[in-house]
Amino acid sequence: RRFFQSPPVVSSLLRSLSSVASPSQPIRVTLFPGDGIGPEISQSVKQVFSAAEVPIEWEEHFVGDKVDPRTESFLTWESLESVRKNGAGLKGPMATPIGKGFRSLNLTLRKELGLYVNVRPCFSIPGYKTRYDSVNLVTIRENTEGEYSGLEHQVVRGVVESLKIITRQASLRVAEYAFHYAKTNGRQKVSAIHKANIMKKTDGLFLKCCREVAEKYPEINYEEVIIDNCCMMLVKNPALFDVLVMPNLYGDIISDLCAGLVGGLGLTPRYSYSTLTSHMIYFSMSFLMILILYSCNIGEKGIVVAEAVHGSAPDIAGKNLANPTALLLSAVAMLRTLELRVKADQIHDAIFKTIAEGKYRTGDLGGTSSTREFTKAVCDNL
Ligand code: NAD
Repeated sequence: RRFFQSPPVVSSLLRSLSSVASPSQPIRVTLFPGDGIGPEISQSVKQVFSAAEVPIEWEEHFVGDKVDPRTESFLTWESLESVRKNGAGLKGPMATPIGKGFRSLNLTLRKELGLYVNVRPCFSIPGYKTRYDSVNLVTIRENTEGEYSGLEHQVVRGVVESLKIITRQASLRVAEYAFHYAKTNGRQKVSAIHKANIMKKTDGLFLKCCREVAEKYPEINYEEVIIDNCCMMLVKNPALFDVLVMPNLYGDIISDLCAGLVGGLGLTPRYSYSTLTSHMIYFSMSFLMILILYSCNIGEKGIVVAEAVHGSAPDIAGKNLANPTALLLSAVAMLRTLELRVKADQIHDAIFKTIAEGKYRTGDLGGTSSTREFTKAVCDNL
């Protein structure tokens, strides 16, 4: 079974139509190579895509060396415009300097592009032994609010306050995404993860919204699990879960826990979706396309940004030691949303085959291969 399935992204429908009209046109995708190991693993993706003859044209944007006042971060306005225009981006890890007075690059991307949901499939890789050999679950994280609202201040000396924001709109939106994902990807169950026994108002509202959406999907089992119990259950028996949906901070933590179940951060992909903003305007030049958009009733989806879960790994940066698997699998997930499924399957299988063969593995998986050797092995297995 392959683990990345396309959600019904409007852009993919539009792209399919446009590719019928002009099959020879390559699809433009914005690439942020990122910091640290980012350029090395981005190079792997480019190499594998080129070997697989994926019809993609990369539009590369590097992290700037000074703050762009329009984004309040090192990400330039032009790079964000590029993602909006292309509707798809692949992002290498970006370092977040601690304690400096500008916005985190990742937060900037999320906020500026309205990436409201973060999807992290987590699965065992055949042939790579971990404690469990059949993990297959997906965490779906609300990506815009909760403790990440950035509203922190000092009340009086020695007392600080950080606001957790939960809104009905964002909770319904992510719950709808999770149930729709479960339904369209043959999943059986959605578990809402919460701490509503203590945070009665905020997590209480989140749960209320999940229940509301659950009623629309009687074919999907629904359960609610308190976050601490969820951690224990995941570590004891991950097979108890299928799709997990949760507020922002819990998603951040649980998805890393899940990565640990299958071999670590070097293996796990993720991708985010946004509300349809300028992307919609870009495409809505065609009235026909607007009609299709509404008749599909898919609504607010438009931009996909795929990225590895891990950070810039400064300890191994520039040493040709990084495992590019996570970014490669993220890029595979992106390909599915671009309706390039055959290419996605081909690359996915080559990655799995290379790891299963065991001859070329990077250090984080107990091997001795370099990034470049692993990449070449994947290309040879295509
Ligand atoms: P990290 O994920 O960069 O590294 C943690 C450990 O995992 C390190 O030992 C590293 O060598 C190893 N590792 C990570 N990715 C690997 C790979 N592909 N192959 C082999 N080993 C790998 O976490 P960190 O050290 O806490 O963060 C470093 C920087 O990255 C920070 O500035 C942080 O803010 C940033 N960061 C960015 C993102 C992102 O861009 N999405 C995510 C997490 C952290």
